[in-house]
Amino acid sequence: MLRRAVAVELEVAEELNKLLYSVESAYLSIVREVVMYAIEYNVLSATELHGLFYSKYRSEYPSLNSQLVIQAIRQASEIAKSFIERKREGAVQKPYPEVRSVSIRFNEIAWGYDEFISSVAPVRVAISPISTGKRGRGGRRFEIWLRPHKHFWQYWWKVLTGEARLASTLIIKRKANKWYAVFIFEIKPKEEKPRSVISFDINENTVAISRIDIETTVGKVADWNRQHVTPELYMIRTDFGRLARRYERVRNAIIEKLKPEFALPNGKYVNVANTREFRKHMKRMREEDRKVGRVRHVANELTKTPAIIVTEELGNNPQESMINEIRRNEIRHRVKQIPFKKLERTVEGKALERGSKLIRVSSYRNSRVCPIHFTRLEETNDWHTLQCPKGHYVDRDYASVMNMTWKATPESWTKGVWWNMKREMNWREHEGKSNPLVPHEIVILLQFIMKRIKASLEQSPAVLARGKPMNPAGGADEGWARNLPNTGRRPVSMHS
Ligand SMILES: [Zn+2]
Repeated sequence: MLRRAVAVELEVAEELNKLLYSVESAYLSIVREVVMYAIEYNVLSATELHGLFYSKYRSEYPSLNSQLVIQAIRQASEIAKSFIERKREGAVQKPYPEVRSVSIRFNEIAWGYDEFISSVAPVRVAISPISTGKRGRGGRRFEIWLRPHKHFWQYWWKVLTGEARLASTLIIKRKANKWYAVFIFEIKPKEEKPRSVISFDINENTVAISRIDIETTVGKVADWNRQHVTPELYMIRTDFGRLARRYERVRNAIIEKLKPEFALPNGKYVNVANTREFRKHMKRMREEDRKVGRVRHVANELTKTPAIIVTEELGNNPQESMINEIRRNEIRHRVKQIPFKKLERTVEGKALERGSKLIRVSSYRNSRVCPIHFTRLEETNDWHTLQCPKGHYVDRDYASVMNMTWKATPESWTKGVWWNMKREMNWREHEGKSNPLVPHEIVILLQFIMKRIKASLEQSPAVLARGKPMNPAGGADEGWARNLPNTGRRPVSMHS
């Protein structure tokens, strides 16, 4: 089940605004205190924390709807759990998480859920943030007008047509001085016939893509006069690495600028990066927003039509494995900033929503093996271009995405590692097994395409290269990649 959160602004009158502020502050204090306790005493279970804290906060905040007390404690347990997890992974250094803001959760008892979902076009929402004052009499009800927008109606339409369901929990959230209701829609994944096979590979500044449109390709196969049936190979520029480098420079400049303000009497400095002022500056830079925008763009491009989407199995720490491959020091830092996991998650979510399937294949030697002859590729003086012993050049990124495409079919998966399979692979385990997500006719098609590329390589050995090696620096020159906002596809010529 896919979840989509849609925020709708609320029309909140002055009095209710004050009330919501006070509810928010009570809710926030509960979450903060419980999180501190949970981490200090390592009590993470929501049930245990509820047992410890419920009555305490009921008497401390008697006017708060008891349902909100329950939700606040539960939320604290989730925050504590994810903090502990991130700490274990080494992603955080601080001893406690900083809970700066909260979203207030209303379960179906604390807001007018039934009423809302039985409406054809809801324009108001009823919430009960405070209790009536009498025990067991539930909450006082407030009706608030919504300012619904197109996006909300799109999801609401899905609810009406049965493609989606509205979750029973409502979230009320404040951003700056505005209040929002966040609705959670649960969407049923679509089932559609794949129209293309797409592989993608995330690099420092680009995402490499191989796309085979099934219908047009089948058309070409039928037309025997066509010489080349090859995947369309292209890149989308993301500039994650460049973005990271730029932000790093600005970040250092801000730290230098703020330092004098945080000098201690002994001449040392407070860690400026932990201060509020620093965070304020960083927020204005909108680094995360920009990254998210780029991630969405790539995900949209990959999931436009229902497809079989092939990607590398990312380990827990994809950055590390990429760093091991690239030894240059300067790059290491930037690679850490590439949102691999985020990109993968976004693609996966969109893929399900739009009827695509995501297949993960092993990353084993994707960019070391010729995707046509399955021989070991040799380095050239250009980091990007590799040479096959059969006499042609291959672009490193294309080799990688094409090998991923082949790995979706069982036969080539074993071929892809044949040259020292005996030593490293127990390939009998995999023999004859096919990926159940790839329909048989597509496997046949992919194998056919592979044979045809092989034939065309004999005539023009430059087919798989973007160019002959000539980049004197030998660095990762990605200047030719497609720019981000440009959605028109610019395939790189594979036929010379
Ligand atoms: Zn080759």
